[in-house]
Amino acid sequence: MDLHELTIHKAQDLLKNKKVSATELTRAVFERIENVEPIVDAYITITKDIAMDRAEAADKAISENNIKPLTGIPVAVKDLICTKGVKTTCASKILENFTPPYDATVMGKINAAGAVMVGKVNMDEFAMGSSTENSGFKVTKNPWNLSHVPGGSSGGSAAAVASDMCLGSLGSDTGGSIRQPASHCGVVGVKPTYGRVSRFGLVAFASSLDQIGPLAKDVTDAAILLQVISGYDPKDSTSVDKPIPDYRAALSGDVKGLKIGIPRQYNTSNGVSPDVLSAVQTAMDLYKGAGAELVDISLPHSEYAVAAYYLIAPAEACSNLARYDGVKYGARDKASSNLIDMYRNTRSKGFGPEVQRRILLGTYALSAGYYDAYYKKASQIRTLIKNDFMQAFETCDIILSPVTPTPAFKIGENVDDPLTMYLSDIFTLSANLAGIPGLSVPCGFSQSGLPIGLQLMGNYFAENTILNIAYCFEQATEFHKQRPKL
Ligand code: GLN
Repeated sequence: MDLHELTIHKAQDLLKNKKVSATELTRAVFERIENVEPIVDAYITITKDIAMDRAEAADKAISENNIKPLTGIPVAVKDLICTKGVKTTCASKILENFTPPYDATVMGKINAAGAVMVGKVNMDEFAMGSSTENSGFKVTKNPWNLSHVPGGSSGGSAAAVASDMCLGSLGSDTGGSIRQPASHCGVVGVKPTYGRVSRFGLVAFASSLDQIGPLAKDVTDAAILLQVISGYDPKDSTSVDKPIPDYRAALSGDVKGLKIGIPRQYNTSNGVSPDVLSAVQTAMDLYKGAGAELVDISLPHSEYAVAAYYLIAPAEACSNLARYDGVKYGARDKASSNLIDMYRNTRSKGFGPEVQRRILLGTYALSAGYYDAYYKKASQIRTLIKNDFMQAFETCDIILSPVTPTPAFKIGENVDDPLTMYLSDIFTLSANLAGIPGLSVPCGFSQSGLPIGLQLMGNYFAENTILNIAYCFEQATEFHKQRPKL
């Protein structure tokens, strides 16, 4: 096995036993980047010099037996997580030259845990999208089939992990942006409970929905990364001060007696591809065989999730994005001769079409006279969706569903059809609206060889349960061990 192919937990063992040095491992990852980045296009910024210094420091720490959970582990970070001294563009022209003067809390945490950041990865502009085609800079390719999208918005994170250009990655999920690309690229992705991970230094898209989480080669690695980034942060008033379970220790693989809820409303072939249906069915059979009980549950308001999300998220986005006005942050149109023109030109040139669409949608939904009909109604539906989950968790421990209706689509296939793009988020949005945790674990391949993910959603702060149930699946299957041939 080549070094870049290692999982985090295997690399930890080799580093600890001094079979491999952090410098060798990091160099191997950069060699891999040199070879496959030109065809995958996952990175916006590569930070080789900083990484090599960090790797040397990791080797020194290892020689002094001062080993932390991520000492010497090469990771990639989505380009909307602030990195002190390293550009953070949100894949937007408006922030093309923005270098944050501070680190996001999660960056502080992974740095303190010894991680070696190798670069910042591509995404849909401001995390708005499901394909990474909305990046202001380039389109990332799906490593399993380069003419397909990697999913989004954390498409760079998922593609970098799947193509072994890092050992693990951080992404963000507002409506599915960790789980959906993880599913499309055949890696594990976890969206934690809202409040589990600090959002301080995460550039806001929709503040009541955004959460940072890991994308990893297997469940154990996802557990290791989640452990490092979780926890209360006084700098984020929405983070929650609750004990953090030992996620890795939760991975027993035992699911006997657990009740797995199968939402009646999702149990239809309506718009879901036969490949996805059969992979999810196989997973259900596997859990039954492992001693879990499948129970029928109802999420009656889930059919309104897309409509509610696409009002709430743009409403919050239009307010969060008001700060990019050419004065406080980022690019400014210098040719404009007065203030109003400067605002207009800066924002028209700086934001791409999808971001502008969201700003328009959000502004409309919040405007006087429409607020009650749109934003307020959507907020009420949000409460109903949350109540559905709370009721469901009275009769089941976790909920199982597809992540996406279809495997990764072709690049360009949906760019002119935003509604189809929005509808493909049907299975992931509800978890964000309710604030519950969800993950995607590889559960099969389509006839054409594209990965398919299985979604497991849990009650608040039950990340340990969903990770363990995913681990059980992983122990019984080989999907997570397969890697694209590049
Ligand atoms: N696809 C959804 C959107 O476009 C979700 C994005 C996300 O989770 N950041 O808004």
